[in-house]
Amino acid sequence: MSVYRRWFCQCSGKPQELIYDQVLDEEIPGEPVCERCGASPSSDPKHTISFRDEDDYDG
Ligand SMILES: [Zn+2]
Repeated sequence: MSVYRRWFCQCSGKPQELIYDQVLDEEIPGEPVCERCGASPSSDPKHTISFRDEDDYDG
């Protein structure tokens, strides 16, 4: 069982899920970025980023 972390940005007034950059053949994992405002978990000047952990299995 693993946990999948979903990231959201509130810049539009309602939570919008961030899209992970798919990085292949890289040791550095991609970081999710808001397509609308460009915020990311490590660059969140307006504090619009939030996340939710979800169990990644079929119940
Ligand atoms: Zn945003």
